Formats: sequence, structure tokens, C-alpha cells
Amino acid sequence: MQETFNIQFWGVRGSYPTPGNTTVLYGGNTACVQVTADGQTIILDAGTGIIPLGRVLARQAQKSGRGVQATILFSHLHHDHTQGFPFFAPAYHPAARLHLFGPGASQQALEELLSRNQMPPAFPVSLRDMNAAKEIQSLNETDVISFEDGLPRLAKPTDPNALQIRLMKSYAHPGGVYIYKISWRGYSVVYATDTEGYIGTDRRLAAFAKNADLLIHDAQYSEAHYRGLEGWSATQGFGHSTPQMACELAAAAQVERLALFHHDPNYDDATLAKLETEASQTFAGAFAAKEGEYVQLGEGRLPLATPTKPQPGMVGAFSPRKKDVQ
Ligand SMILES: [Zn+2]
Repeated sequence: MQETFNIQFWGVRGSYPTPGNTTVLYGGNTACVQVTADGQTIILDAGTGIIPLGRVLARQAQKSGRGVQATILFSHLHHDHTQGFPFFAPAYHPAARLHLFGPGASQQALEELLSRNQMPPAFPVSLRDMNAAKEIQSLNETDVISFEDGLPRLAKPTDPNALQIRLMKSYAHPGGVYIYKISWRGYSVVYATDTEGYIGTDRRLAAFAKNADLLIHDAQYSEAHYRGLEGWSATQGFGHSTPQMACELAAAAQVERLALFHHDPNYDDATLAKLETEASQTFAGAFAAKEGEYVQLGEGRLPLATPTKPQPGMVGAFSPRKKDVQ
């Protein structure tokens, strides 16, 4: 069993993809983050970043002779979080087994909503015609996903240090959004994309993210953009935060590191580098997520690798923090 807890960014952009020579450093794909822990592959959102991830997973599966098994969690169903799924290579492979979870008012709602995205004439292949075995389920706020028999199940784990996923429903985005917390062996990562900060910070989210090792938080707009200055139209109420809001939340939640995420597609590398520097002066553990970059949770401060070629399932030593392991 792989003894690492890794988080890798495959798509860090909000709204729409931005390829081109001014976005090479931070990347142009829309939201997709891969988490590997306890031998499981968990994918947060299916923006266009899931397309290159799918190619890598398919190649690995071909080499190992075992079909891809992955759990995909949707924060919500806006385009930039789903548009990569119809091009996710493992979804077309009969040996692949995909577990899809996300919002929906009834148990079948998620499947219906995802099906609608791929209905002709919008796309030629329906969800049903994608060959992988798919289990699609809507989640309630009280649900817990655990993996004790090697597959994701809606059940509280018997071992508190077992790999598990909890969620919080936030209303700080039009239509609502699910915020996920993935925990394993005393470490945790919180994925809080598409959420707008409040004056005085979002106390519920701060409590949910308390002491996380890594908080991935929406930071789409600069202060000037958010307020409608410097030629921008104001974006207050759009359901996205500024880096300062993300830093306030990170400080209130006392997290170790903060990944600014869901970068505005209008921002080039120089703009993002400036926002990143300013944020790290407000919250020491802040950095702007870059496509291909990975974080490995480990002893003490989180080692942050320099941007690498995407390579999921980085191998390294994993040492549980003694105080958290019972
Ligand atoms: Zn989004």
C-alpha cells in the first residue's frame, strides 16, 4: 500500500481555460486536484485539468494491468468544474471503476445533472455510453465517505485515522457549493473553491477547516477587481474571494498552508506572482497553486515541491504526526 498523502494540482484556473504564453507558469486548465492517500485516487472537480490527469491514469493502468479506480468529488456543477469529464480517458475504459459524488437534491440528482451536460446536441457521447463502471451518488451534508473495504462507501470509519471525506455545504456561491475535507492519519486537506469570504470571515468554514495541513481556497479576484477599481467591473456577490479573504480564513482556521486557487482567467503569470507575494506577506503559509505542482503532507512544515511535470502518486516517506495518531 502506498504510504503517502499527496495533493497535486492539475487545473487551478476559474471560469474558463486560458492557454497561451502568458499563463505558462501557473497554468491555464480549469479546476482539478488529485489527492492520493492510502492507495486511493481522489479527484476534486473535473475541470479541463482532469483531461491530462486521465491520460496519465490510463497509461498507468495499462502498465499495471489493473483498471483505473478513482473517486471523483464535484464541488458543484458549474462548467469549469465539469467540462473535462467528457474527455476523461478512463471513463471510456470498461475495466475502469469510477465513483462520482457531488451535490444533488435527491440520490439520483447528480447523475441526472451530469447526464444533461452530455446530451446531444451538446456532446455526441452520452454519460451512459461511456464504458467505465460508474457509481454516481448525490451527497448530503451529514454524509461521510470512508474506504475501509478499499472502495468509497457512505459510512463513518471505525478507525478515526482511516481515510475519510467529510463535507460542508456553503451558500457563499450562487447555487451553493460543497467544501470537502479529506483526512488520513491525522493529516487533512480542505478544498474550498468557489466561495466568497465574509466581513469577519466565514466562521462556519473556519471551524470546518480548523487545523488543516493544507487549505485550498478560492482567491479569484484581486482587491481592485473585486471592488470594481482600475477598470474592472465589481465582482462582489459573484461567489469568489480575494487572496486577502482566503488569508483571513486561513488565519482564523489556523491551517498550516494555504493554496490560493481558482485564479481569474484574465490574470497572467506576472499578476498572479504579485498576488502570491502579497498574500504570503499576510499569511506566511500562502502560495498560489500552480498546475503540475504537488504538496506532500509530512512531518513539520509541508514540503512544497517546485513545479514539476505532472506525475500523480509521487512516492516518498510518510511519517504520521504522533500527536494526531491515536
Ligand atoms: Zn468555478
